Amino acid sequence: MTEAAYDVIVVGGGNAAFCAALSARERCERVLVLERAPEDEAGGNSRFTAGAMRVAYRGVEDLRKLMPDLTDDEIARTDFGTYTEDQFFDDLGRVTQYRCDPDLTEVLVKRSFETLLWMRSKGVRFVPIYGRQAFKVDGRFKFWGGLTVETWGGGPGLVDALTKGACNAGVEVWYSARALSLLNDDDGVHGVRVRRAGRTVDVRARSVVLAGGGFQANPEWRARYLGPGWDLAKVRGTRFNTGDVIRMALDIGASPAGNWSGCHAVGWERNAPEFGDLAVGDAFQKHSYPFGIMLNAEGRRFVDEGADFRNYTYAKYGRVILAQPGQFAWQVFDKKVLHLLRDEYRIKQVTKVSASTLEELVRKLDDVNAGAALEEIQRYNAAVRREVPFNPNVKDGRCTTGLAVNKSNWANTLDEPPFEAYAVTCGITFTFGGLRINTDAQVISTDGDPIAGLYAAGELVGGIFYFNYPGGSGLTNGAVFGRIAGASAARAACGA
Ligand SMILES: Cc1cc2nc3c(=O)[nH]c(=O)nc-3n(C[C@H](O)[C@H](O)[C@H](O)COP(=O)(O)OP(=O)(O)OC[C@H]3O[C@@H](n4cnc5c(N)ncnc54)[C@H](O)[C@@H]3O)c2cc1C
Repeated sequence: MTEAAYDVIVVGGGNAAFCAALSARERCERVLVLERAPEDEAGGNSRFTAGAMRVAYRGVEDLRKLMPDLTDDEIARTDFGTYTEDQFFDDLGRVTQYRCDPDLTEVLVKRSFETLLWMRSKGVRFVPIYGRQAFKVDGRFKFWGGLTVETWGGGPGLVDALTKGACNAGVEVWYSARALSLLNDDDGVHGVRVRRAGRTVDVRARSVVLAGGGFQANPEWRARYLGPGWDLAKVRGTRFNTGDVIRMALDIGASPAGNWSGCHAVGWERNAPEFGDLAVGDAFQKHSYPFGIMLNAEGRRFVDEGADFRNYTYAKYGRVILAQPGQFAWQVFDKKVLHLLRDEYRIKQVTKVSASTLEELVRKLDDVNAGAALEEIQRYNAAVRREVPFNPNVKDGRCTTGLAVNKSNWANTLDEPPFEAYAVTCGITFTFGGLRINTDAQVISTDGDPIAGLYAAGELVGGIFYFNYPGGSGLTNGAVFGRIAGASAARAACGA
């Protein structure tokens, strides 16, 4: 059965997809979004986020353009600093071990600010991330780690705003519509085969944008590409990103690209459900480990918790936790830093123990060798360079010396009750490998040429993130390339 033709079909219902649809709609009349999830679970991983978006800005004047609601009082009591294009570029280079595609990375960085302004024009609102990315020093908030803005209402707010903007602009959205394959011939891609309400239909279009997410919700693909043990990880976000959309492009000759054995994975509540829970959002994450230590089942520390700001380590430490016996760890803190723990430590659905002595604490750590854990904490305490002052806003150099695994910054002794510990396992966020695109977001074939009529953006694109990831880059990546993909697809479909 063949349905009426569209100018552009966008596959996916998250941030990248809606940015592509809104952008395509600027040139074309008939734009269709195919979202596999039912409406009440729609929005992909984007909906699960806190909405943090990494963006280059020269100073508070740039931020005022993004957030005209910033008050003089907020500006007076905040040091927003700057986050230059060079810093953003350097961060991406450093954390990906300089494997990130230089051309795509340059586009991501250089278009980040204008893309957020464009999103604003489509109805998305931004606010400063006071709660998570700024600490108060001498009465003033100071932002750190290059991450300063988030969308109003977090991920749900972002998806709502984009969906509303698209619907107001006349974009058609089909929910519970699973793209199955691409309609293609020697001239390129001409539409999508879709399963909707139990029926399979061929929907024809002049261009197709793929924005269907990674393969992290598919345990078989995780074990196949990420390696043994990854089938055991918990999925932080949507259950619908199973690699379908990557597969349908590979099936017609698209080139894979990037770090197929790599992913973004974090420390995540040990008893969290198999997939993300929209009622909890990202609050199962436990990101304050730089201020404490992590112990495994053998009672041992196994990673430098203070190697860098959490923005630059959290995305790779999930893998390290997965590699521990039993795939779990306990994060341990004492009274001195409890006030610094992020909001996510105070949710109901948390596996937490408290104690007034270290002896009592280690006995309460489920599945941990208590004697070894106590010795490890004592060894750690003795190794802390106490003469170096603690400062959570900078890499303070308060480290340990002489341990098999040293801690490089924020090494406080664990000696002031109450002590608290939180159990975490590995939560996978998204996969890094995906489709090869060029800077116009055209999908490239294994022969090295663009596939006519096919564009891609967001989590399912490979080549930008390797090994690790600077926090807040995923949404910006989806927005920048979603907007470009939508524009390229619309140019091909409806002319310049
Ligand atoms: C808990 C959590 C917190 C995060 N926090 C942040 C953050 O604060 N900042 C940040 O930058 N990044 C964050 N991320 C990463 C971020 O979510 C992703 O980088 C980004 O949302 C990817 O956007 P996307 O549009 O490419 O994919 P998604 O938003 O996942 O959208 C993919 C869409 O494709 C649909 N789909 C899948 N298969 C099909 C099919 N066959 N047919 C039709 N539709 C299909 C899905 O239903 C979904 O709607 C977080 C992720 C998680 C899980």
